Amino acid sequence: MKKIALAIHGGAGTILKSKMTPDKEVAYTNALQTALNKGYEILEKGGTALEAVEVAVSSLEDSPLFNAGRGSVFTAKGEQEMDASIMEGKDLQAGAIAGVKGIKNPIQLARLVMEKSGHVMLAAEGAVEFAKEQNIEFAEADYFYDQYRYEQWQALRGSDSFQLDHSTKKDEKFGTVGAVALDLHGDLAAATSTGGMTNKKYGRIGDSPIIGAGTYANNNTCAVSCTGSGEFFIRSVVAYDVSCIMEYKGSPLTEACQEVVHKRLMKINGDGGLIAIDKNGNVCLEFNTEGMYRAFKTPLEEQVKIYKN
Ligand code: ASP
Repeated sequence: MKKIALAIHGGAGTILKSKMTPDKEVAYTNALQTALNKGYEILEKGGTALEAVEVAVSSLEDSPLFNAGRGSVFTAKGEQEMDASIMEGKDLQAGAIAGVKGIKNPIQLARLVMEKSGHVMLAAEGAVEFAKEQNIEFAEADYFYDQYRYEQWQALRGSDSFQLDHSTKKDEKFGTVGAVALDLHGDLAAATSTGGMTNKKYGRIGDSPIIGAGTYANNNTCAVSCTGSGEFFIRSVVAYDVSCIMEYKGSPLTEACQEVVHKRLMKINGDGGLIAIDKNGNVCLEFNTEGMYRAFKTPLEEQVKIYKN
């Protein structure tokens, strides 16, 4: 039997059961399950890993629960600036957008950058101009408004601090979303999308749109999508590092992910996690925080989880 696999995440952070209401838990679980089903259906029908990760991430972007697309956090200026990237493991094609406003599904724009722009990354106004040329769907400011996110910003507004979307130092958590997939043709793909960090400086770009840091896919090794304090993920080139450990050391997927998340990242106090799938359909969901919104599905197994255990 040919293997297929899909894994998704909705961000890592200090996500504790004691802080969750039953309603919220159900809402998060349902949103993860919906995205998982939509992406997996594509793989089951013989669709590409690229299509599956784009569809799964778009579904998470449409939910206000996650810090991407609709639920993006507020910047220091009280706006939403979104980052996203997508990569194919087959031929190392990649597309990314950074610091864009008003785009309903940033991951779809990242894919168009990859396929139609001749470039890998477009930022800010240039990305928006390209989006208009491509007839990408825009949304008004009220579509991105979320009371909870607004309150998160108010708690930090005017200060120099910025904060991840799900963690406890200041009730923060990372709500970035991502997906990795292996399709029937043996191809891998990865996608990541985020609003970044609450109260982030105007123009701040995280790891999510940076190929090799927040997202990476290579058919020879694995596909990876990250979530966490982006600055550490950029400095550690996390997604590419997982692939490198597999390629150069010959380590299996789980060992490579554990080395990066628990040793290399922790050494510089980097908090967060990642999801990864290798070319054989092995899945690894690894994080060094209290929890990570996550799910995966293979022909043999399916799981949706939030907390550590
Ligand atoms: N990695 C993202 C960033 O730093 C944040 C997150 O994962 O929620 O922009």
